[in-house]
Amino acid sequence: MIIDLRSDTVTKPSKGMLDAMMSAEVGDDVFREDPTVNTLEERLARMFGKPKALFFPSGSMANQTALKLHTNPSEQVICDKYAHIYNYEAGGASFNSGISCHLINGQRGMFTASQVKEAINPDAYYYSQTTLVEVENTTNKGGGACWDFEELKNIRGICDDHKLGYHLDGARLWNALVAKNETTQQYGELFDTISVCLSKGLGCPVGSVLIGDEDLMHNAVRVRKILGGNMRQVGYLAAAGLYALDHNINRLEDDHKKAKEIGSVLSELSIIAKVEPIETNIVIFELESHVDETEFLQQLSDKNIRIIGMGSNKLRMVTHLDYTDTMHERLLEVLYDF
Ligand SMILES: *Cc1c(COP(=O)(O)O)cnc(C)c1O
Repeated sequence: MIIDLRSDTVTKPSKGMLDAMMSAEVGDDVFREDPTVNTLEERLARMFGKPKALFFPSGSMANQTALKLHTNPSEQVICDKYAHIYNYEAGGASFNSGISCHLINGQRGMFTASQVKEAINPDAYYYSQTTLVEVENTTNKGGGACWDFEELKNIRGICDDHKLGYHLDGARLWNALVAKNETTQQYGELFDTISVCLSKGLGCPVGSVLIGDEDLMHNAVRVRKILGGNMRQVGYLAAAGLYALDHNINRLEDDHKKAKEIGSVLSELSIIAKVEPIETNIVIFELESHVDETEFLQQLSDKNIRIIGMGSNKLRMVTHLDYTDTMHERLLEVLYDF
């Protein structure tokens, strides 16, 4: 038994999901004639109360498309220093859209409306023009932290005052919705564009969706084409998404519960200096400075447990739907032995 907690992306499609995929009705999505893709897009648009949604092969491509739709070259997006669009999209913001990121020094990937206000460049010709604010919920590098919805609303106010676009990287929004008892509708009302992943906590093999207002989304399919994201009989993958929306959202609670239990065991170990607050399915913890990270990872690996290092003696575990109760018991046993 291998216990893989490196990410919630390591899941494999379940029998039920595979059955749904195999029996999907498909067509050529380049002609926009794949009925299953169309159903998935319409369903997500409706869930968020938005007119348009578009299926993407990855979350990065969905975010990169959003950046392009909101900005012109030379402009600036405000985001946290931990933002996925800044850290983990291979410099795509500058490569694809010719924009720069104004980084906010937030807390666990989150910031305040007044920090946004301060980060907006003055209206002088020698500044880059600020045109977009981007937030992430839950935060990835921030350890699965969930935003306070009131703060997100305050930021919307700043965006309205300064005519800035507002994009949500909701790769793990599902986890936030479950943890905070929030709805897709309330997020749809607040943001201009939202990207969501089907291949993280929801357990699909591939797929993300960008959801947004009509005027912005008008060009989304063209940008996706330019980025190489045209797909054909992709309803087989969209069917996995539909299956996940039906079966895999509410169960995220179980991942959150397990993550908290792992956190409480870790916080009792003498070799652990600190466990970051656990709100969803991500556990980030720091080893005591005398503990060698490589050695610790090796000791786990010898017991068939895989987790990842994040640098500076910080490590990460992510719970997911292929992490079973049996694996959980075994992991806790192993941890108690340290
Ligand atoms: C995973 C993730 C994405 C998308 O990543 P892909 O690997 O391109 O699908 C975007 N934002 C966040 C916060 C993520 O965790």
